[in-house]
Amino acid sequence: MRAAQKVLGIDVGATTVKFAALNGERLEYRGVQKIASAGNAAFIAQLAAIIAAPEFQDCARVGIGSPGPLDIERGVVIASANMPAVRDCELIPELKKLFPQKDIRLDNDANAATLGEKFFGAGRGHENFAVFTLGTGVGGGCVYENRLYRGFKGNFFEVGHIPVFAAAPESRLCGCGNRGCLEAYASATGVSASYKVQSGDVLTAADIAARAHAGDGAAQSAYSGAGEALGLAAATITQLMNITEFIFTGGMAAAAALLRPALEEAYRAHTFALFHPLAKFTFTEGDENAGIYGAAALFL
Ligand SMILES: [Zn+2]
Repeated sequence: MRAAQKVLGIDVGATTVKFAALNGERLEYRGVQKIASAGNAAFIAQLAAIIAAPEFQDCARVGIGSPGPLDIERGVVIASANMPAVRDCELIPELKKLFPQKDIRLDNDANAATLGEKFFGAGRGHENFAVFTLGTGVGGGCVYENRLYRGFKGNFFEVGHIPVFAAAPESRLCGCGNRGCLEAYASATGVSASYKVQSGDVLTAADIAARAHAGDGAAQSAYSGAGEALGLAAATITQLMNITEFIFTGGMAAAAALLRPALEEAYRAHTFALFHPLAKFTFTEGDENAGIYGAAALFL
């Protein structure tokens, strides 16, 4: 592959920015930095310094995946839960001023992850599938009839805010301000909250998974609650769109064995039987570079 076709992929995560040049299917000059989250200017300057680095001079195209909400038409980061000081950040317009010769694109991290699965991961060759990113929050994206849908300003398929338990008497408050959202139960934060309710202990989702495997009932219940919530959300998607293939990625995907039984039970209980033989749930932790591949895939 010619050097001119290299793409710089930048994955803006919860606490770090990861980046690398994608050369064919290979990543080169991979780097990780702590996010400069002091404000819009610091954040823009950090990404500009990465783009300007000598090793990326031959990357004419730059893909950036970032948590939202975003306005991808204007290239603006409207807000970010992990970077409260970054608001209405005119990221792409500012970067274009600095690098007028480069093609720079922004999309939300879940859309980027979905494209990453389509071109490099479990979604290869699949025309219809949904991706759930299970991390500190729950994001999502879908490829339908071989196409990624972006919706209004890039905010399509926000599965994390499907109200799966809104009707429950003690439905939990979500970061978005509503109650009963999938994210409040099936994210790492949600599992921690479920475990705290039952045991009084505050632990990370990974520690709770270890306890669940060791036989702790409250830990198992925190994960089965997350699985049930995921199954209800997946069932909603199947009934609406007839998508029956689901890919779960992110740190929480490591807990597949704890999530799957309740997920499949809730899914089957809330979908037509004709879909059951088609249903496929793939858990992939991906690798730590999945976000970089996804950001670079914005050009594929
Ligand atoms: Zn919500």
